[in-house]
Amino acid sequence: SQQIRLSSYPEGMPTHDDFETVAVELPDPGEGEVLLRTIYLSLDPYMRGRMSTAKSYAAPLELGDVVVGQTVCEVVASASDRRSVGDIVLAYTGWQTHAVVDARHTRRLDPADAPISTALGVLGMPGFTAYAGLLEIGRPQPGETVVVAAAAGPVGSAVGQIARIKGARAVGIAGGPEKCELLRRFGFDAAIDHRSPSFADDLAAATPDGVDVYFENVGGPVAAAVVKRLNKFARIPVCGLVADYNATAAPTGIDRLPGFMRRVLSSSLTVRGFIQDEFRPTHEAAFHEEMPRWVRDGAVQYVEDVVDGLENAIDAFQGLLTGKNLGKLLVRVGEV
Ligand code: NDP
Repeated sequence: SQQIRLSSYPEGMPTHDDFETVAVELPDPGEGEVLLRTIYLSLDPYMRGRMSTAKSYAAPLELGDVVVGQTVCEVVASASDRRSVGDIVLAYTGWQTHAVVDARHTRRLDPADAPISTALGVLGMPGFTAYAGLLEIGRPQPGETVVVAAAAGPVGSAVGQIARIKGARAVGIAGGPEKCELLRRFGFDAAIDHRSPSFADDLAAATPDGVDVYFENVGGPVAAAVVKRLNKFARIPVCGLVADYNATAAPTGIDRLPGFMRRVLSSSLTVRGFIQDEFRPTHEAAFHEEMPRWVRDGAVQYVEDVVDGLENAIDAFQGLLTGKNLGKLLVRVGEV
């Protein structure tokens, strides 16, 4: 079996030199354990945080650790009465072709319910992040305007479509015409390209009544432009800041924090960060009830960007941090 391990903490964009591919022989599963074969590996922006020793909400990887990640796997050997050979499970086995894990750390998936890959995207962690963050913090009301960036990704595309289900206008920001076209196909009321020289004007034209909810996925210049459009009582669920994940130093130039805080005060803004896990107790049951129905009805559509072969995970991960992916990024590690 093959594993990709972290061999050094990247400076800026991760490179191949920061990883090491190792062939290992896995033990037979012990009592209560299962041997898993990876089918799909999810690549997500949070992995960049695990590759850094900067203080965060989760501990960093140690050098030599297999890179973490959620996976959809097949059980190929079982020493647990919870799982049988042939079961398809959701697990957290990371960047490797096989793993032995405690069967209690797997969740069985029924391939008859939905394509198994969706457990890593629209029906999994990213979909849940969109659902809980938007509904709990954003609270979109009918007729309001919701803006989201990284809008063609699994979190952003779900945010915009759920906003529309709630009767709000959805404005998506994404990099490039192909992604903007996808957003229009998903029913977004407007789609704007943050790489276009006319971005600020396009944003103003797309938000004639201002912005009531800004679902923050990216930070950087995109956030600076949207903040100027915020209405009184606007809500900002702070979900991610992917524009900064490879930053090696604090930005230079004028300090924008006092201006932003003045804006928070004078416009009565609500700014709240969250890590999706904190909403599991309160929102997970409703998510598993509503989201599959919305997907079946076509109210929430999704696309997946599937890259073949574990050996291509590093390049694909670099692409995620520069916007090369179109939709939920997955690595097909083994046969489906
Ligand atoms: P995506 O598939 O959307 O990938 C990230 C996207 O970010 C890229 O495709 C790119 O899209 C965009 N991007 C990258 N750099 C920049 C930049 N400099 N400026 C603007 N956009 C940029 O990822 P996800 O949907 O999985 O995640 C979206 C966000 O949600 C991330 O910030 C992630 O960390 C966060 N997140 C937070 C969670 C939480 O619990 N708080 C849980 C899950 C995700 P484009 O080409 O459109 O620019």
